[in-house]
Amino acid sequence: KLEMKNITKAFNQDMILKDLTFHLEKGEIMSIVGPSGSGKTTLLRILAGLEKPTEGEIIMNGKDITKQKANRRSISLVFQQPLLFPHMTVGENITYGAKVSKKYKEEKIKALLDAIGMTRYRDHYPSEISGGQQQRTALARAMATEPEVILFDEPFSSLDPSLRQDLRYWVRDFLASRETTAIFVTHDMEEAMIMGDQIAVFEDGNFQQIGTAETLHKLPANSSVASFLGGHL
Ligand code: ATP
Repeated sequence: KLEMKNITKAFNQDMILKDLTFHLEKGEIMSIVGPSGSGKTTLLRILAGLEKPTEGEIIMNGKDITKQKANRRSISLVFQQPLLFPHMTVGENITYGAKVSKKYKEEKIKALLDAIGMTRYRDHYPSEISGGQQQRTALARAMATEPEVILFDEPFSSLDPSLRQDLRYWVRDFLASRETTAIFVTHDMEEAMIMGDQIAVFEDGNFQQIGTAETLHKLPANSSVASFLGGHL
């Protein structure tokens, strides 16, 4: 279970996150949609430990992890732009950080490479593959460590539509099969519906509403939710 309690984040005088409280049960997936620059990435970075909240607590399975370093948290973040080690091959990038036995590693890497359609690029370096292939490698890498929580920040935005479609279902199945808790930030309402059990509309520093796509459409909590969804369908 992942909880955020009264999280506030200010950059200089700007309040980006305003007293944010929510929780996700194990295995739950929440999509976040909201205007550009509203603070969605900042929220993920705080959860991952890359940014400190100004106030508030992050609790994971009952333990306060607010001050825990990023690499001590069982939380992976997949960025909008793939982040790979340039001096490591695709295969090495995927298994880097995965604390598992050699044999298991080999099986796992094969399965992951196959799932992302990258088997023949295993020994290529990031500079030798396309942006989409780099992002697929980054996805596989986030999953190889089997973290309890994976945070996705518009991970498919650089991919072409058909690949995007395939990977959506692959990621969903992967998360479901391991009961991985996840947050999925996207600008695409259809994608938000496919990926999330629930959709959160984030605006003005807080969630305006969290619910199923149907609830958001039938019973928008306020006019900003209605107008945001209206412009995105
Ligand atoms: P997008 O959908 O465009 O990716 P976002 O909702 O993810 O946007 P953030 O990237 O979280 O938004 O940014 C929210 C606000 O916080 C922006 O106004 C941004 O300029 C500001 N901000 C983010 N990081 C910093 C920082 N390190 N220092 C100062 N301001 C920052």
